[in-house]
Amino acid sequence: VIAMSMTIDATDRKTLMLISHTHWDREWYLTFQQYRVKLVRLIDRLLDILDNNPAYAYFMLDGQTIVLEDYLEIRPDRRKDLERHIQSGRLLIGPWYILADMFLVSGESHIQNLLLGRRQTAEFGASMNVGYIPDPFGHISQMPQILRGFGLDSAIFWRGVPNLGQSEFIWLAPDGSQVDGAHLPGTLDIGGYCTALGWNKGVQAALEQLKAVRPFLTAKAKSGVVLLMNGNDHVEPENSFPATLQAVQTALTEQGLDYKVVHGTLPMYIQAVRETGIWNNPETPRHKGEFRDSQFAHLLPGVLSSRMPIKQKNSRIERLLERDAGLALGWASSLPGGTRPHFEPESLRGLYRQAWKTLLQNQPHDSICGCSVDQVHAEMDTRFAWAEQIGQEVRDESWRIIASKINTALPNDAKATPMIIFNAVPIARTEVATLSVTSPNGMGEMSVADAEGNVLPHRVSQPELELLSVMDIPAAMLAGMAAQVGDEGRFGDLTMADIEFLPYDDKEIEVKVVVVQGAASGSDPSLMKWASDRAQEFIGRGAHTFKVSFYKQTAARLEFLAKDVPPTGYKTFYLRPRRPEDIKYTSETLETPELIENEFYELTVDANTGLFSLRDKETGEVFAGLNRFRDGGDAGDEYNYSPPANDEVFDKLFTKPEVVVKRGAMESSIEVSAALELPFCLNDDRSGRSHMKNICSLTTVATLVPGQRRVDFATSFLNQVNDHRLQVVFPVGFATNKVSAEQAFDVVERVSELPPFDKTWLEDPQSTAPQKTFVSVYNAEKKLGATLINQGLPEYELVKLEDGNAGIAITLLRCTGWLSRSDLATRRGHAGPGLPTPGAQERGTHVFHYAFMPHKGDWLVANAPGQAYAFNHALTGVVTEQRTGEMPTSASFVEIQPRAVILSAVKPGEDGRSLIVRVWNPADRDIPEARLRFYRAPVRANITNLAEDTVLQELSLTGDNGNVVAFSLGAKKIATVRLEF
Ligand SMILES: [Zn+2]
Repeated sequence: VIAMSMTIDATDRKTLMLISHTHWDREWYLTFQQYRVKLVRLIDRLLDILDNNPAYAYFMLDGQTIVLEDYLEIRPDRRKDLERHIQSGRLLIGPWYILADMFLVSGESHIQNLLLGRRQTAEFGASMNVGYIPDPFGHISQMPQILRGFGLDSAIFWRGVPNLGQSEFIWLAPDGSQVDGAHLPGTLDIGGYCTALGWNKGVQAALEQLKAVRPFLTAKAKSGVVLLMNGNDHVEPENSFPATLQAVQTALTEQGLDYKVVHGTLPMYIQAVRETGIWNNPETPRHKGEFRDSQFAHLLPGVLSSRMPIKQKNSRIERLLERDAGLALGWASSLPGGTRPHFEPESLRGLYRQAWKTLLQNQPHDSICGCSVDQVHAEMDTRFAWAEQIGQEVRDESWRIIASKINTALPNDAKATPMIIFNAVPIARTEVATLSVTSPNGMGEMSVADAEGNVLPHRVSQPELELLSVMDIPAAMLAGMAAQVGDEGRFGDLTMADIEFLPYDDKEIEVKVVVVQGAASGSDPSLMKWASDRAQEFIGRGAHTFKVSFYKQTAARLEFLAKDVPPTGYKTFYLRPRRPEDIKYTSETLETPELIENEFYELTVDANTGLFSLRDKETGEVFAGLNRFRDGGDAGDEYNYSPPANDEVFDKLFTKPEVVVKRGAMESSIEVSAALELPFCLNDDRSGRSHMKNICSLTTVATLVPGQRRVDFATSFLNQVNDHRLQVVFPVGFATNKVSAEQAFDVVERVSELPPFDKTWLEDPQSTAPQKTFVSVYNAEKKLGATLINQGLPEYELVKLEDGNAGIAITLLRCTGWLSRSDLATRRGHAGPGLPTPGAQERGTHVFHYAFMPHKGDWLVANAPGQAYAFNHALTGVVTEQRTGEMPTSASFVEIQPRAVILSAVKPGEDGRSLIVRVWNPADRDIPEARLRFYRAPVRANITNLAEDTVLQELSLTGDNGNVVAFSLGAKKIATVRLEF
């Protein structure tokens, strides 16, 4: 027996509460299937222990239910055994479905995660009602409000917590929601959820580990209840544990230590601490907002930019499910007759739930963070594809159901094809809409018009061709056939639209002919003449056969300027053959740098540097040096950015850029094509970047659309080098150290200065930080602000530029070749196994979307969230037929006032009958009256908790049609409005 060397005093009476558990990273340095083999063995063994060893009191399955699903796929016969132990309280499951990263997924994803966890725990008959969030890399500000929304009033976690002086604390969300918090303290070597792992190896090991953790654990457990976590990553339970626990109790008693050693559960721990009254003590530390400290545990903030394509896909699919598909399905279900006769309503809802579940399977912390081996991330691609496919199908089916009830008849133009454009964002929008159009009449000269006949600018791109037939025509027969076809290029009811000769061979000439159905107004007599002259040339050079492939143009990508699409609604437009009197919108291409503009901004580019300048017409303010790329070395790993000791930063283009300016009625754009010359990789000792360099091409298109208050940027980058970080920087023209960044259900204010730290910190604090769709800065003196919006690029940095002014940088790519390394300048120790991950170098072509928006006032005054969500939800829709219907040609599903109220999601209710519309208040002041006006009057409306199982407030239906609800929405509050139709 090891003698305990600590001195004992009368206040040292403690309860040591041991929680047996395993921490289950479902995929990480092994794949899901490889880990599952271990999981099956673990649960087999666990059930054996629970069945045969009554002294083994409790085991916790890591706060996530997905492990049960994974096990039961292999052992469906053991479901009853699991249920028995869960219902008896010995096996603790839930409350989550998966252990997500906190910052990299949306607020709605967190809610879906808890909803699914709740559905599954209900099926097993019990849930652990503790906010156990063991491993994520920091914690978001609104988690207390989210947990409270599910009836969870406690939170237990490890990383991100600063020195609070004790384990027990009160955690407050920005709206004032609070939970009782317990920190799992640790050191570099031991801590968090493995402080009693050694107890699995017998009494000697248990006492040794207790000696190591006792000083910091007991010192911090001010309540006297010390939480000891008996488990670790992928660790199996030990039959001998109860005996070890008894032996440790005896040994401590023999040493005169007044410790009570208990095998317990997290609910027992919370209960025991609550009984001490410490969470009601006014001296107990209170922490409001997020946790991102790195003094006592690795925060691993470099995961915000590891494997960027994963982040882009996740964000795109979250948006698809939260607003597009959820809104479409919710609306379709709430119409008279619902989704019938097209679809069983429960089937569409089931598909929608399956899309969410598949996406959630990509959101565990090791998956979405991009800190696993390459194979894991390759497998995520399939899940992303499945979630997106299901989501798009649910959206499109729902749109077709809605479209089938809209009055699209155009009595004076029966040939016009109606197109319904949907807007998932609660602001009216004039933007470029894109949709795939199939036209049996071909895509000859068409016009796009609204229901009143106003012609709108449009463009047809990416035509889709269907092969009709292939004919070998001998040269001798060509003249006869040409005569039949005639000058107009007609074959029966088909008209030639295009012809291309592909002379791969002198004797046999391949010819591609594109035809359209009917006498297209675009047929061109000079085309036949030109084709016949070319054919004669080939014959003159000895061609004897023409192998002609006939293609019919059946579909195309159509883009047009959709004007005034109502908020969270739709508008009907028409595609029809062009009439002579229709305005023909043209665009001009200019190869010299020229100004482009819309109502709000003027944009120019510097022909030498490729940097943009933007003038805000409203304020007169000019923003120069925009879209500067900045590339530095990265000697870090998947978890942490770490610049090499002798870093070299490149922020100038390698070549003078090629600039193409296009000015048109639909949009105007400036395209800058150039390259960066970047070092191949780090040098051998990783102290700097290699001398050998490679060229990485880089193209940015900046676009202004009439009526749209932002400049949209699309940048494609060919990554041909390793070990680096690429950012894009937007100078804002004034100095500031404050930035407002969107987070889940919050807009968080952060400062750019780092806290004071030294090398005893487990990790150096970083100036990069997480965001959702936008970050914004504001100058109170000038009353001017600037917002940088993004699509799925979660890492920003507020930088100080050479002139002393601030710039907003977003990370486009961070490229490293290692899962973890132990030689980082910015982090002490490993964060995982030191495995190579060549895939994390992200070689190849990447496309990034972001938008810049200078404005008067701050982000709230400028409605930055509205613009950010609009940028993240392109206008699109469905093509339908003309019919009479009960719904008007354009309408809003829900109009929200005031505009500060953010729409988070529309989705089918958990009860299978209702419809949920979730909104939140991003401001730190109350909104006395939030008003929601629905397309159709519900029969009942109320506000429920997030779990949708408790009505918080009945809402009265007001307005002329009983279709309006109004309620007060406190600062930073989330409101879940439940409607029954
Ligand atoms: Zn983990």
